[in-house]
Amino acid sequence: MSRPPIDLRSDTVTRPTAAMLKAMTEAELGDDVFGDDPTVKALEVKTAELLGKEAAVYMPSGTMANQIAVGVHTRPGDELVCAGTSHVYLWEAGGIARHSGVTARTFEGDFGILSPIEIDDAVRPDDPHYVRTRLVWLENTHNRGGGRIHPIESIAGIARWAHDHRLAMHLDGARLMNAVVATGIPAKEWARYFDTVSICYSKGLGAPVGSALTGTVEAMREARKLRKLMGGGMRQAGVIAAAATYALENNVERLAEDHANAQILASAFSETDGLRLESGPVETNLVWVDVDSSLGTAAEVAAYLKSHGVLVSVLGAQVIRACTHLDVSREDVEFAAGVIRQLEPAMITALTLVY
Ligand SMILES: *Cc1c(COP(=O)(O)O)cnc(C)c1O
Repeated sequence: MSRPPIDLRSDTVTRPTAAMLKAMTEAELGDDVFGDDPTVKALEVKTAELLGKEAAVYMPSGTMANQIAVGVHTRPGDELVCAGTSHVYLWEAGGIARHSGVTARTFEGDFGILSPIEIDDAVRPDDPHYVRTRLVWLENTHNRGGGRIHPIESIAGIARWAHDHRLAMHLDGARLMNAVVATGIPAKEWARYFDTVSICYSKGLGAPVGSALTGTVEAMREARKLRKLMGGGMRQAGVIAAAATYALENNVERLAEDHANAQILASAFSETDGLRLESGPVETNLVWVDVDSSLGTAAEVAAYLKSHGVLVSVLGAQVIRACTHLDVSREDVEFAAGVIRQLEPAMITALTLVY
């Protein structure tokens, strides 16, 4: 057991490769707050083109890109419509309330995938008693929903409805490129239904840091102001933007390997007694798993896997998540699947006794 642990906790754990680091050291730099870092500007142009938007703003994190999107579309006291399992609602420290003074009306969706029918009544009446509904928020792929892809026909239906009610649309596309590769539908095609779209370079694409928000020139002017306000103005940011450009040029198509590898893990989990795929068939690179109490707790299962060289995330008392990414090979995943298939209550009990 001398091999390093296989880290399936998140697709954010990847390290830059030698080629990516070379691109970073060779980047032409300026001061991006002054608007003269050519590497950042080129990344913004490339990202806006990818998504078919007028402009993009490079951001330190996906959370900041999302929070700024909320700020761009709303004023304090407004409400946004989203799935209760959305990253923006669940995992951004209540930022919509704190930064923008906005409330959320949440819907369950089908593992976070909202439908036009479910949200048909979501717009509050134009009456002094009610908050102003302003923004519809979708997430594709939907992380907490098992990495599910939001079907494009459903997005089109929601967009028509939003347009009829004069609501803005934002897409949290942290893993949009996973949906692009899994479906063959180009990024632009997904993005056209939204006023703004955020994407992460630091998830499956493998850059060490960074995200972007895209939209109209006017919206991005406001986004740039909010980024400065939040302390996200960066100086020689080309050094990290070069990694994001490298990721867009080299690491998109290979997401298909992550999806194929996730299927191997999904089979291992679903064919092991006491484990079940939380949201049904796996569609991209995330594998969310329910642990039956007959097997143990999520923490016990994770501890067992760890003791056998496989790291997963514990995301609930009985929930674990495994992600595939650039830094896990087919061989790593097959090894992990073998470890998963050995899980049985007696082994977990034995482990608990050892500790
Ligand atoms: C990871 C993630 C983000 C942003 O994450 P950062 O860690 O702040 O870059 C946003 N949305 C979704 C769906 C994510 O999975």
